Amino acid sequence: MFDYIIVGAGFAGSVIAERIASQLNKKVLVIDKRDHIGGNCYDHFDKNGILIHRYGPHLFHTDNKRVFEYLSQFTGWLNYHHKVLAFVDGQNIPVPFNLNSIRLLFPDKQASLLEEKLIAKFGYGKKVPILELRKEEDRDLKFLSDFIYEKVFASYTSKQWGCKPEDISPSVTARVPVHISRDDRYFQDRYQVIPEQGYTKIFEGLLAHNNISLLLKTNYKEIMKINPESGKIKLLNSPFNGQLIFTGMIDEFFDFRFGQLPYRSLQFSLTNFAKKSYQPATTVNYPNDYDFTRITEFKKLTGQESDTTTIVKEFPQDYDPNDPQKNVPYYPFFKHENIEKYEQYKLHSLQFKNISFVGRLAEFRYYDMDDIVERALKLFQSDF
Ligand code: FAD
Ligand code: UDP
Repeated sequence: MFDYIIVGAGFAGSVIAERIASQLNKKVLVIDKRDHIGGNCYDHFDKNGILIHRYGPHLFHTDNKRVFEYLSQFTGWLNYHHKVLAFVDGQNIPVPFNLNSIRLLFPDKQASLLEEKLIAKFGYGKKVPILELRKEEDRDLKFLSDFIYEKVFASYTSKQWGCKPEDISPSVTARVPVHISRDDRYFQDRYQVIPEQGYTKIFEGLLAHNNISLLLKTNYKEIMKINPESGKIKLLNSPFNGQLIFTGMIDEFFDFRFGQLPYRSLQFSLTNFAKKSYQPATTVNYPNDYDFTRITEFKKLTGQESDTTTIVKEFPQDYDPNDPQKNVPYYPFFKHENIEKYEQYKLHSLQFKNISFVGRLAEFRYYDMDDIVERALKLFQSDF
């Protein structure tokens, strides 16, 4: 009946399903255990009529023309440049930390000195990860990097990951480098947009082809059996000889034979207020106060007009598969030893030619949306 089975209706699964259905004219079954499509990018209207992102705020930004053009087949876009403030020493300063942040925090003379030194050392427009800046030996730059480390990164990272910035892969804090510029935007990519009718509409488009069948509220384990030695697959007790594309957790898929891979989870606390605006920017980070990391006000990113507004607070927590409040693995936890463990799973998976592993959980990677769309398009081109 089906040529391909795909586990997961997020970007990884939905893009590959669309390609197989439209380009190969083959039949695809897409299975997801949630009651909706879109994976973590799912958005919907809350009971107050505000478009919200169920699994945390999602900002689309990319330099990748191919990805932008591919997705543009399924949505129109609104231009949107994301800006984030961080509450530091009693005031909101721009993040990524930049020359404007320095001006707000330090007296003019000191600010000018720090700016001059940064520009002389790195050049205007450069982006410097905080862990790199901390290697500077100049007394003033050292003072500045210690300040930024302590006030912007240390406590936020401790809340988000449960560890210090240097105890996690440097690529994580390098996502938000110190920016030697006066550009207050969170991203500098060429395309910075929000889907005109939300993300879920994109997924409806991706999965609309007649060759695609969708099965929601179903864990693949309920309907499939996979022989752990041979990789042979049974779908509802009948042999399935096609290709399986798996976008869930790779450690769970292999029954944790090399141990559990660590993830971080989140609790989202949503509140609607009977006022037009809640805060001065779409997202305000609280590195040093409260248990949550940041507050995002959805209307400010979707551009929706309404007399009320909905915000979300993000409370990071350990991932715990046995606790219904903590059992969503939002972020792979990047540390050297965890990546090594993942490599064992990857190596093991390579023997199963009939199964492809792709996605944030299946590849244990911090993929942004554009990365995963690119990855899915590439995989389709090379392997199918
Ligand atoms: P997912 O979207 O997680 O999809 C995997 C799907 O597989 C899920 O629907 C899941 O239910 C299903 N599944 C798993 N196991 C099974 C099973 N056993 N049986 C059936 N179904 C199963 N990216 C950006 O570009 N910009 C942002 O601003 C941004 N913000 C983010 C904020 C947060 C809080 C998080 C967590 C992520 C953010 N991302 C952002 C990243 C973005 O969410 C991912 O790039 C994208 O979701 C990856 O798609 P995916 O298909 O790999 O995984
Ligand atoms: N970060 C921080 N303070 C901030 C913003 C970010 O310490 O004000 C660090 C933190 O470790 C975070 C990482 O930078 O996990 C990446 O931030 P990003 O905003 O990209 O996180 P995401 O949106 O993916 O959760």
